[in-house]
Amino acid sequence: MSQDEFRAARHDMVDYQLRRRGIRDEAVLEVMEHVPRHRFVPESRRPAEAYSDGPVPIGSSQTISQPYMVALMTAALELKKTDKVLEIGTGSGYQAAICAELAGTVYTIERIPELHNCARELLLELGYENINCILGDGTIGLAEHAPFDAIIVTAGAPTVPGFLEKQLAPDGRMVIPVGDRMSQVCLKVTDRSGKHHEERLTACTFVPLIGRHGWNK
Ligand code: SAH
Repeated sequence: MSQDEFRAARHDMVDYQLRRRGIRDEAVLEVMEHVPRHRFVPESRRPAEAYSDGPVPIGSSQTISQPYMVALMTAALELKKTDKVLEIGTGSGYQAAICAELAGTVYTIERIPELHNCARELLLELGYENINCILGDGTIGLAEHAPFDAIIVTAGAPTVPGFLEKQLAPDGRMVIPVGDRMSQVCLKVTDRSGKHHEERLTACTFVPLIGRHGWNK
């Protein structure tokens, strides 16, 4: 598939999967129109699944999320160019790239070394100098760089890890899928003036968040 054909497929993805399903955040739509999602999908799954309407396996039993979920969660983060963002679950690196286009700095944590290495190399190759890839257990957050204006968890958690919530800035926003191992509700958590608030965004299905404050395997 040529670059022009990938561009056309990306345009259709934004139109049919995002705009027509109610994503209204123009900044999010614009970055999803130009970030080359096909580069984050394994070569063996291109071109068919590069812009398909669902999660795609990326190896190590993990997936790159459905474009609609990426758009919905990113819009909920309400990112500003000066924001410092923490992502738990680098996976392919696609969500980190989308955040990096809209925010100041992104820290992204992955627990599986192969995925971490692959995403780090690709993000460097694509020129993302404002993304820091870290290998480790994201459920404990990243105290040395806290507080964060936005935290996005892209794996399903049993509960909202209190550790992470403490690393949110006073006006910070966190999006996180919470539920059982098979299905979750994507929550937007804010902590304004010390008051915990949760908004339910949608039902969803993510791979499990595994770690000290997540599932144990
Ligand atoms: N955001 C990714 C999709 C992630 S899939 C993308 O855009 O492609 C979820 C990822 O979370 C998987 O790669 C999984 O290995 C990782 N993960 C699960 N538990 C984790 C933990 N405690 N810390 C860091 N990464 C974790």
